[in-house]
Amino acid sequence: MSDPSWNADHEGGRLTIDLRALVANWRELGDLAKPGNCAAVVKADAYGLGLQPVSRALWQAGCRTFFVALPQEAFALRGHCPEAVIYCLGGLTPGGAADFATHGIRPVLNTLSEVAEWATLKDDHQAALHVDTGMTRLGLTLTEASELAEDTDRVATLHLALVMSHLACADEPAHPLNDQQIARFDKVRSLFPGVPGSLANSAGTLQGARFRHDLARPGIALYGGEAISAPSSSDQRTTLRPVVRLEARIIQIRQARMGDAVGYGARETLKQDSRIAILGVGYADGYHRLAGSTNEAAGASVVIDGTHAPLVGRISMDLMAVDITDPAFGHLQAGDRVDLINETYTVNDVARVAQTIGYEVLTGLGRRYARTYIDDI
Ligand SMILES: *Cc1c(COP(=O)(O)O)cnc(C)c1O
Repeated sequence: MSDPSWNADHEGGRLTIDLRALVANWRELGDLAKPGNCAAVVKADAYGLGLQPVSRALWQAGCRTFFVALPQEAFALRGHCPEAVIYCLGGLTPGGAADFATHGIRPVLNTLSEVAEWATLKDDHQAALHVDTGMTRLGLTLTEASELAEDTDRVATLHLALVMSHLACADEPAHPLNDQQIARFDKVRSLFPGVPGSLANSAGTLQGARFRHDLARPGIALYGGEAISAPSSSDQRTTLRPVVRLEARIIQIRQARMGDAVGYGARETLKQDSRIAILGVGYADGYHRLAGSTNEAAGASVVIDGTHAPLVGRISMDLMAVDITDPAFGHLQAGDRVDLINETYTVNDVARVAQTIGYEVLTGLGRRYARTYIDDI
């Protein structure tokens, strides 16, 4: 916590980030990536879990290459990991080449104008080249890449340390675009002989050797998020160890009567006399409003000593209600904590109810939580 004089027991929510699990996940992905190397994608504040503690733990575990999205993320990471190889996926900003070089940040060159900008540097700072192979997002087109490759003098001025592309559908192993992207990326690699290649995100790394080249770029799987939504075989790993535990404090417990309405919009009415706990976490803390409950559709659950209890009514900005009528919860009182996310009810479970993906749940984790890092690695 930022202010140690403040007792974290007063916080509405408490977030515990298990850096041991993070490191174990990176090692497992690293084993899968062999004989290639394994980087770590730490964009968006390490998917919401904290750039500094996450990158330090991974560096100590042996991770040497990191990817971020924005220049300011790259510069912050440079402060935490002075010797790391840092790639900035968002590419070069106009006029930014000198800044990148000064801080030793490698830009991922996404357009021909970025290529031209990088070529103006007089020294040998390295960069990555991104070629689009079917996602229609960032990167040179295949035609642009072929034309660039013919200009071998220009290519030599870029000091390419990596040629990369990004998979659009690796989370759906049966999707035909996967094979197309693999084939196109093979073509791209043949244009730039001798330059190491990188294609696989988490899902690609988990899926198999055909996606792996010299450097894997996992993000979500490091953080315990679901990487593959439709595994093609039952023995395929889709997630690694959960990293996040989110606890909420019970602010108030109340008795309510059958027929009482709970929360904004009176969207859920109680079917029996009930005991309701009000928790000090809401959508302003990143707990998705769509995870709430109505008469028509059940919402997410919370976990209390291993047993699930259902949310009732809509999620408020700072609060939510949970039904603790079950006698198993008889011991609960105000001030106790319940788990919104843990190793048995994960970010992926909350995401499913909230009609989103684990990535969005993680990156939305609010700044109001008391944060604890388990780091006795
Ligand atoms: C975010 C990102 C990754 C990591 O993807 P995950 O699905 O989180 O593993 C890899 N490469 C690029 C280009 C990305 O934008």
